[in-house]
Amino acid sequence: MLKDIFMGLSQNQLLNSAAKKYGLKMGAQSVVAGTNIPEVIKSIKELNAQGISCTVDNLGEFVFKEEEATAAKEQILQVIEAIHENQVDAHISLKPTQVGLDIDYTFCLNNVREIVDKASQYQMFINIDMEDFKHLELTFNLLDDLSLEYDNVGTVIQAYFHNALEYVERYKNYRIRLVKGAYKESDEIAYQDKKDIDANYIKLIEWHLLNGKFTSIATHDHRIINHVKEFVKRNDISKDKYEFQMLYGFRKELQLKLASEGYNFCTYVPFGNDWYGYFMRRLAERPQNLNLVAKQVFNK
Ligand code: FAD
Repeated sequence: MLKDIFMGLSQNQLLNSAAKKYGLKMGAQSVVAGTNIPEVIKSIKELNAQGISCTVDNLGEFVFKEEEATAAKEQILQVIEAIHENQVDAHISLKPTQVGLDIDYTFCLNNVREIVDKASQYQMFINIDMEDFKHLELTFNLLDDLSLEYDNVGTVIQAYFHNALEYVERYKNYRIRLVKGAYKESDEIAYQDKKDIDANYIKLIEWHLLNGKFTSIATHDHRIINHVKEFVKRNDISKDKYEFQMLYGFRKELQLKLASEGYNFCTYVPFGNDWYGYFMRRLAERPQNLNLVAKQVFNK
């Protein structure tokens, strides 16, 4: 019920525009690492100092105007430059709709190509985040087209889809982030029950760890993480074949613990003014995150 409310709110364009105008509010500052490049570089440096690498998301989605998509591309290019100049351990995550996927495929492809090309000059990886099912095949098409020219690009596969294993098999030669899935999808194409999603998630992780190029296991679920730790030990899978990922501001102690145990750990660091949809999806996933909101409201 709460999940549905927050998912509905996450797609409300009016609230999204209002949020952009008024800066980080409602507790979003706990899970969004600032609104500009100097602030995000500062956060990355702090995480790097604790042995954690970062994937940086210049927040933005639901872009329907070419000039907005072009501006988003320019901002991402600036982030790449800042990562390089500051010599921090970080790469980029981007959303295809932010750089024009809802406007025109070729326009979007050209934008992402420019980003991947710039990043390749600095041996930097670009992850194309996966949005809802409506954009899934087009996102895979971006990856297919770009990988004809570049090898510093990968994407995300969501375990809630019935045929997720098919996608994992198709993209086994890529650096892939495996997640449970954050969007509301119909029961015709996606598991709805948490138990089914978790079981499929474990199946995908094991398959990709055994057969894939590099696996990013992106979850806050300690049960899954413990399972993976056992699995890699049993199957003698070396640490350079995988990493754990979590979102900025979530389970900070567990993030540090995994890094200090010698696992590769990468924090997903979102920043920028367009935080509203991202923040609402986090509330939808885990209504306990409302605690974050409550704390901010009462700690004024
Ligand atoms: P859940 O299934 O939400 O929780 C399982 C259990 O873990 C909980 O019952 C609880 O015991 C524990 N737990 C979870 N969170 C907390 C917490 N904050 N504090 C304490 N205990 C907790 N989704 C997409 O669709 N596309 C993407 O491109 C994408 N990229 C992502 C990148 C990263 C780095 C991460 C971490 C997630 C990404 N997601 C993405 C979101 C993902 O699909 C899930 O919606 C999200 O991670 C919630 O699932 P979970 O596996 O973390 O744990």
